[in-house]
Amino acid sequence: MSATTATKAPRTADSFEGIMSGVFEVQHPLIQCHLTRLRDKSTPPTEFRQLVHRLASLLAYEATKDLRWEAISVETPLAKTGGARLVDRIGLVPILRAGLGMVDPVLELIPTAEVWHLGLYRDEETATPVKYYIKLPAERPVDVALVVDPMLATGGSVTAALATLNDWGVRQVKLLSILAAEEGIKRVESEFPDSQIYVCQIDPDLDDRKYIVPGLGDAGDRIFNTVRE
Ligand code: URA
Repeated sequence: MSATTATKAPRTADSFEGIMSGVFEVQHPLIQCHLTRLRDKSTPPTEFRQLVHRLASLLAYEATKDLRWEAISVETPLAKTGGARLVDRIGLVPILRAGLGMVDPVLELIPTAEVWHLGLYRDEETATPVKYYIKLPAERPVDVALVVDPMLATGGSVTAALATLNDWGVRQVKLLSILAAEEGIKRVESEFPDSQIYVCQIDPDLDDRKYIVPGLGDAGDRIFNTVRE
């Protein structure tokens, strides 16, 4: 379908400018098309997981454009030539449980990344984050943390995670989320103005249960096939 026949055009990155300069709503036809399938309630879990993989790869590609690298040389079978080696130590930080669905595709791109799990669940009554698993070493924090959580809703879990990484001493934090609500983005902006957010699309609303609307439902349940009607 061409953009001219779409019922609702995806918002442009410009439309969020001025709210937070570190917010990147990545504009790409592949992202829009995969995201549309992801949102569809009839998309089965197997395909849902594949789509999460594809979208996480595309977000990670964008988010890692400014990683530090050093020049090295390499011998090809034919000649010596110049090349590059990553300098930054990268930490991949999935917020359990849904963030796990984004780990493999990012590790595929950055096999040397360290993976540090943060367990935070959302109390369904209060929609506030509860920490249940946080185990980071006291020393040698990574240079750049890529925090992965498919859904940035109220920002409660993410800001709790960013506070933990701040305490650990991480120099730079980039959040990769497939969907974000404006409320969550504003909260991250006000509490962590130096962080960056890479997102496929920003949705306008949260419902009474703090689910993103139109959203895609419960990402963890759809990834792990635990949806209960
Ligand atoms: N978490 C989800 O999985 N979906 C939402 O809409 C909000 C938070």
